[in-house]
Amino acid sequence: MRGGADVLVLDKEAFPRLKLCAGWITPQVVRDSDLDPASYPHRFLSFRRLHFHLKGLHLPVPCIQHSIRRFEFDEWLLQQSAAPVITHTVRDVRRDAADYVLDNQYRCRYLIGAGGTSCPVHRALFRARVPRVRALQTVTLELEFPYEWDDPDCHLWFFEEGLPGYSWYVPKARGWLNVGVGGMAQRLKQRGEDIWMHWRGFAARLERRFGIRLPEEPTGYSYYVRGPVDHVRIDNAFVTGDAAGLATRDLCEGIGPAIRSGLRAADAVLRGSNYELADVTGASLGGGWITRMVDWGFTRGVGRTAATPSMPHAAS
Ligand SMILES: Cc1cc2nc3c(=O)[nH]c(=O)nc-3n(C[C@H](O)[C@H](O)[C@H](O)COP(=O)(O)OP(=O)(O)OC[C@H]3O[C@@H](n4cnc5c(N)ncnc54)[C@H](O)[C@@H]3O)c2cc1C
Repeated sequence: MRGGADVLVLDKEAFPRLKLCAGWITPQVVRDSDLDPASYPHRFLSFRRLHFHLKGLHLPVPCIQHSIRRFEFDEWLLQQSAAPVITHTVRDVRRDAADYVLDNQYRCRYLIGAGGTSCPVHRALFRARVPRVRALQTVTLELEFPYEWDDPDCHLWFFEEGLPGYSWYVPKARGWLNVGVGGMAQRLKQRGEDIWMHWRGFAARLERRFGIRLPEEPTGYSYYVRGPVDHVRIDNAFVTGDAAGLATRDLCEGIGPAIRSGLRAADAVLRGSNYELADVTGASLGGGWITRMVDWGFTRGVGRTAATPSMPHAAS
């Protein structure tokens, strides 16, 4: 690995692998991942505006934000790390003196859990200290497909038809488009709704607004937005990204927090520093009243954490 440590990455999928994600990334992500748009070999698109839509109001916010396709970006990140990768589904994680042993096959001194929502490191070592808070669980449906879009900006529609979340339109370079809906699972259930109902309404509105006919059914995935993050390290084991529930409270942005927390875990291993998540943003919209308003609309303020956000990067 670039930092000089002896590293092995285990992932249950062979790369490039499908990862459901709209693929919107911030300038902070570009900096943190040392991505040079001029030499990045895959699809990379920059938006000049984020269009926020709320209760009939349309707010075009000038900014620079970007989109990538996740299967390309994740493989590229792995290649940049130069770490060896083995395709292996981790099932069992245990301590053996100062080491961690995975599936009786792999032994290490430091263990970084980056396995997303169902991370086996979280399951084995962190479940009690970093609990999955039902009120902070999102459910999503999305579709990415070839489409010659006319509108090159990103659009987000909040709270349409009472959705405790938002729907999105994220164009990708060279004729691809990602559209989706996401909302808070518990509040949907309380309303007697499911995410499919909102998907169908969204699909109809996409056709009306943009003339887009969706070519197939979407796929779903669930993850947790940020709750308390006080116990993300136990001895030499760490959880990062979705495994630690780090996605932001207002836009459910998880790529940046996953990369930042991974960097902080690497710092802790290589330099012996504390594993601090203070500069891992918990709010994409700056952490002020807009963040609080959106967060309230999503979660009704449940599971609020003192580890307050944030870096106002989404709108800058
Ligand atoms: C529909 C949708 C749209 C989204 N859009 C955006 C967006 O536009 N921008 C944004 O910033 N965030 C977005 N997010 C959130 C973002 O995708 C996640 O927060 C982010 O991917 C978290 O990264 P991670 O590395 O922690 O986990 P993941 O990206 O989920 O990676 C986890 C890895 O662990 C592997 N794994 C899992 N279990 C095991 C096991 N037992 N053994 C071995 N390997 C295992 C998986 O194969 C996977 O490669 C979106 C999420 C969804 C679902």
